[in-house]
Amino acid sequence: MPTHVPDIATGRLSPDEYAVNFLDIHPPLDRHQALVESDRCYFCYDAPCVKACPTSIDIPLFIRQILTDNPEGSAETILSQNILGGMCARVCPTETLCEEACVREAAEGKPVKIGLLQRYATDVLMEARGEQPFERAEPTGKRVAVVGAGPAGLAAAHRLAMHGHDVVIYDARSKAGGLNEYGIAAYKAPDDFAQKEVDFILSIGGITIEHGKAIGRDISLAELRQSYDAVFLGMGLAGVNALGLEGEDLDGVADAVDYIADLRQAADLATLPVGARIVVVGGGMTAIDVAVQSKRLGAKDVTVVYRRGQEKMGASDYEQELAQTDGVLIRHNAKPKRLVTEGGRVTGIEFEETRDEAGRLVGTGVTFQLAADTVFKAIGQTFIPAALNGSAETIALENGKIRVDDERRTTLPGVWAGGDCAATGEDLTVAAVADGRIAAESIHLALSTPFVAA
Ligand SMILES: Cc1cc2nc3c(=O)[nH]c(=O)nc-3n(C[C@H](O)[C@H](O)[C@H](O)COP(=O)(O)OP(=O)(O)OC[C@H]3O[C@@H](n4cnc5c(N)ncnc54)[C@H](O)[C@@H]3O)c2cc1C
Ligand code: SF4
Repeated sequence: MPTHVPDIATGRLSPDEYAVNFLDIHPPLDRHQALVESDRCYFCYDAPCVKACPTSIDIPLFIRQILTDNPEGSAETILSQNILGGMCARVCPTETLCEEACVREAAEGKPVKIGLLQRYATDVLMEARGEQPFERAEPTGKRVAVVGAGPAGLAAAHRLAMHGHDVVIYDARSKAGGLNEYGIAAYKAPDDFAQKEVDFILSIGGITIEHGKAIGRDISLAELRQSYDAVFLGMGLAGVNALGLEGEDLDGVADAVDYIADLRQAADLATLPVGARIVVVGGGMTAIDVAVQSKRLGAKDVTVVYRRGQEKMGASDYEQELAQTDGVLIRHNAKPKRLVTEGGRVTGIEFEETRDEAGRLVGTGVTFQLAADTVFKAIGQTFIPAALNGSAETIALENGKIRVDDERRTTLPGVWAGGDCAATGEDLTVAAVADGRIAAESIHLALSTPFVAA
């Protein structure tokens, strides 16, 4: 049970209502629908959709394979670039990536449904074979430590295992998958898909996961560097930004990421406390996800308040629309000023309206209050470098994250990093997978080239 979150009442919705509210948000295409949709693709030369995909999947090729009724071949095309292609098909904000770049989006505002086609192909393969289509190379005798079993770590581990290296993943949590298991909105990846995908990835062999082992707590980076031929850091972001307001630790104020983790792990959603009047502070995917899921759990009023204008929100237009369709109110241009409290718990929050003055956010002096029994903080996650302090040596940071080069090498020899903990770009599942694969190829090159020092 999450701390700090009050409850309107258990039994607030019927089991049927929970089931409907947390159904798969994008129902899969059937074979006929997939054939029809794949026929809409122009199979562009130099396809813009491929350039927009962080993992550079050959999209026209996999769509053509679906059109020729070869979904398993299509899935192999996808998975050879992105072994988490099944999850990415479910969670990628395609409306700002491949589908935004699709020429049919530019021409008629109706892109080819690339995400759903990717899901169709990967689902067919995973259901038909149960295990993945790749084989390990001959064992190299090299051992690589991977820190974190999230998308970055899993993608790195899989590619390294494919090249014949032995991989040990250390993860602080009891389940693998990272935010795929603990963070993604429940209706994006229902039916325990995250764990099914982990099993699918591990079926290549050569990968061991040590659960409940945190670097910086149970094992140091220096130890890993001594015991392994290379190390990949994919530990994500363990910290969350604070509002910086008095009363932030009182009942009724909670981290959105922690609450979503509890929601994802709840065996029965009826037992998860939810407030009646909820205010979410933030404007990204996490803010929208906690708002929509709270509404679907039965909260009465949910308001998202973002400090800048609508066009600056991290959440895509599609996600904002989803929230509004679910009855979430989104207010822009207001920053939190004060928590209103009574008897040791939050009863509301005061905001100051803001305006943009040549890129600088300034308060207007005009304030308003929103009543709330729950205030969710969703203003970004942070990297906690303390996890690296078990090592005598330090790793250079950039903007608070681990600095890496194009091959995802850190400044410490023999250590690579990727995903959210590295300063590489957007915090997306697909970007983390791309980092893991790029780092693994670089590690493989270093371990197999005598003159390249790992
Ligand atoms: C609420 C929420 C919703 C999101 N929704 C989407 C979405 O819909 N689509 C999308 O593309 N992206 C989404 N994202 C972003 C996406 O989930 C991340 O970008 C992605 O998971 C990053 O992968 P990662 O492997 O770098 O880190 P993570 O997924 O965070 O995995 C890191 C792993 O490292 C482990 N770990 C942490 N510290 C240590 C340590 N000291 N020692 C050992 N192990 C450690 C953790 O237990 C975890 O398993 C969302 C993020 C959040 C917070
Ligand atoms: S841009 Fe659109 S039409 Fe062109 S190859 Fe990609 S999906 Fe097909």
